[in-house]
Amino acid sequence: MSSSYVVIAEVRAGQLRQVSLEALEAARLSANEDDTISALLLGHNLAEQAKQLSRCVQGQVHVIDHPELEHYSAERYYAAILPVLEPLEPIGIVLGHTAMGRDLAPMLAAHFQAGQLSDVTAIHRTGSEVQYARPLYAGKAFEQKRFKEGRKVITIRPNNFSPAVDSGCPGEIVPHEYSSSPSLRSIIKDVISKTAGQVDLTEAQIVVSGGRGVKSAEGFQPLQQLAEVLGGAVGASRGACDAGYCDYALQIGQTGKVVTPQIYIACGISGAIQHLAGMSQSRVIIAINKDPEAPIFKIADYGIVGDLFEVVPLLTEEFRKALA
Ligand code: FAD
Repeated sequence: MSSSYVVIAEVRAGQLRQVSLEALEAARLSANEDDTISALLLGHNLAEQAKQLSRCVQGQVHVIDHPELEHYSAERYYAAILPVLEPLEPIGIVLGHTAMGRDLAPMLAAHFQAGQLSDVTAIHRTGSEVQYARPLYAGKAFEQKRFKEGRKVITIRPNNFSPAVDSGCPGEIVPHEYSSSPSLRSIIKDVISKTAGQVDLTEAQIVVSGGRGVKSAEGFQPLQQLAEVLGGAVGASRGACDAGYCDYALQIGQTGKVVTPQIYIACGISGAIQHLAGMSQSRVIIAINKDPEAPIFKIADYGIVGDLFEVVPLLTEEFRKALA
């Protein structure tokens, strides 16, 4: 008997988030061949994003487009989602392991009496058995889990699944009504973004990160230039944030953001275990540190022993030439 999977897609700053396309792939890996996979998109002014999503989904794209849904609010989104999800009777619900996904997933799991697996980084199928890998102990170990029965709610870590491919062929878009609830306890008036960069840190393919070795807020400028040339995002260690060199929105690690880019460039970062928890799964790690004994070199694929203020501008210059 075929079942239904629903991916709850996200829009940020007017763009469909890459993790939502990755969630479609995660749903495909999780589903049986005859299961249907549809998507649910919430927000405001979603015409373009819904079209884009419909080219990537096998099934329908359900859209709830309303000014009150422009910014994520747990209460509003939960209230809006349920009337659409319930008739679909999903066996699986997949979300990005983002601020929104982390917030909504347990609410949906409780409502649908589903099991939940969070921060999934890989899905393997052997016959009819599907195993989900997720990190433990701040990334020092991984566990393989499976659902024994019933409904599942899954959140996936950004940058760990290939995004669903754009077929170029628009699919069916199903608009839904939204009626605002009079019993809301909170209303989001505005969202103030603290990060200036165009590239979302958690979804960036290249991250240039600075630590206490950057020495000042101005010291981040060469890192920003390198990130710009590479089309990446700037991150930081908690050491740099605590020292006031940058905003905590950039912090990567156990108590910050978790990133899995293709390339992670750590500049003036010692490599404390709490920092590694947020970046050790990056595909290629490049460390620049003037101390050859710095622990970051133990996990780095490439290490440059030197002063970051000399090395980073040189790299920027060379990449600029190579990419021109
Ligand atoms: P340092 O350890 O001071 O390292 C600075 C490095 O810069 C040194 O290796 C030095 O050799 C190098 N350096 C200096 N000058 C230069 C130069 N000119 N060129 C090149 N290299 C240079 N940390 C996080 O990052 N993220 C977290 O989420 C996090 N969560 C934590 C949670 C808890 C509960 C605790 C207790 C700690 C947490 N920490 C976290 C802090 C963590 O333990 C470290 O203190 C922190 O990561 C150190 O930051 P750092 O590497 O920038 O600084």
